[in-house]
Amino acid sequence: SYPLDVESIRADFPVLERKVGGDPTVAGEGDGDDVPLVYLDNAATSQTPKRVVEAIVDYYYEYNANVHRGIHHLSQEASVAYEEAHDRVADFVGASGGREEVVFTNNTTEAENLVARSWGLNELGPEDSIVLTEMEHHASLVTWQQVGKKTGAEVRYIRTEEDGTLDMDHAADLIDETTEMVSVVHVSNTLGTVNPVAELADLAHEQDAYIFVDAAQSVPNRSVDVEAMDADFLAFSGHKMCGPTGIGALYGKRAILEELEPFNYGGGHVRKVTYEDATWEDLPWKFEAGTPNISGGIALAEAVDYLEDIGMDRIQRHEELLTEYAYDRLSEFDDIEIYGPPGDQRGGLVSFNLDGVHSHDLSSILSDQGIAIRAGDHCTQPLHDKLGIPASTRASFYLYNTREEVDALVEGVDEARELFA
Ligand code: PMP
Repeated sequence: SYPLDVESIRADFPVLERKVGGDPTVAGEGDGDDVPLVYLDNAATSQTPKRVVEAIVDYYYEYNANVHRGIHHLSQEASVAYEEAHDRVADFVGASGGREEVVFTNNTTEAENLVARSWGLNELGPEDSIVLTEMEHHASLVTWQQVGKKTGAEVRYIRTEEDGTLDMDHAADLIDETTEMVSVVHVSNTLGTVNPVAELADLAHEQDAYIFVDAAQSVPNRSVDVEAMDADFLAFSGHKMCGPTGIGALYGKRAILEELEPFNYGGGHVRKVTYEDATWEDLPWKFEAGTPNISGGIALAEAVDYLEDIGMDRIQRHEELLTEYAYDRLSEFDDIEIYGPPGDQRGGLVSFNLDGVHSHDLSSILSDQGIAIRAGDHCTQPLHDKLGIPASTRASFYLYNTREEVDALVEGVDEARELFA
């Protein structure tokens, strides 16, 4: 049975009481008081509970000041809160090194770029290879592709099988003595596949390569332990896990981060500067040049506490049950194609197409009924090319979603079918 008290959880999210309607992109039409919101676009961005918003308000009302620098009271309060936020986030993903192993970034994308620039551009050459999967998000795919172009390193892709899982024999072939980096998505944001990252880490480490885990779709939804999976790097975004936008995190093993150069330069991350040279602050501040997103970091830690109070295992189970239910209901129709693994073996999302209806049209019909889903390529264009489709429709679930909302989705799809028949 469903393990969460969804009714009380929903009360934490004021936006879920909203009604929507009209077209907000047309002046005067988007007043939005027609139909109740059914929010099924959580893989793109999750909603924010009151206590996370309150953490931001509290910061600006009570102790807004720059960090690391000031001797004055507010600056010290802000510094302590911001620094401790790193510890809380480190603890959340099982990083025993605490704050020294967690760099706050804008998002997952910036974390990928940090490692690509600090490490990739400096260390890679034409004799090296970078191994990705065919289901990488553009955040990793485009980033490492560009590193390949600039350094001459070869970019290789582990094949995706018909059922949406990785071909692990192919992985074992591709990851060889030339490989320096294996960058893999933990849970695919398009297929929902849960990749065997610990096994991939072993393959990488056997070849003395690093593994970078894109955990944008796993850290929000399940308990993740960077040390159990032996990740060298792991990245995620606050806005997909009840936190605000503009804040994310890069986990890196301390010994590796210590060796890396900063990728941004400026104030706040330096120890000694002369007209000739500069030395860097301790971890993680070395990688946080300039004034950081202070309230965002503090709010991310609050989001982590919120999720932990509810329990990651229960959140995961809730999503699994909803996902299985959605998968089963959508599978009843011959004219719906679902992409990725079976309903009981995936992360909390289902991507599909309705025969003869473009996902953008389907999405707009659903939107008329208050249902928010994603239409498009979900930043996995090459994967969509491989599947032979221009786009897909994605419903993604979180802790506040209900079976009734899945029913609303299925009814909405029914309506679209009738409209286009
Ligand atoms: N990787 C995956 C698997 C994602 O789903 C996303 C978000 N769609 C990203 C990376 C990028 O996240 P962000 O836009 O927050 O950088």
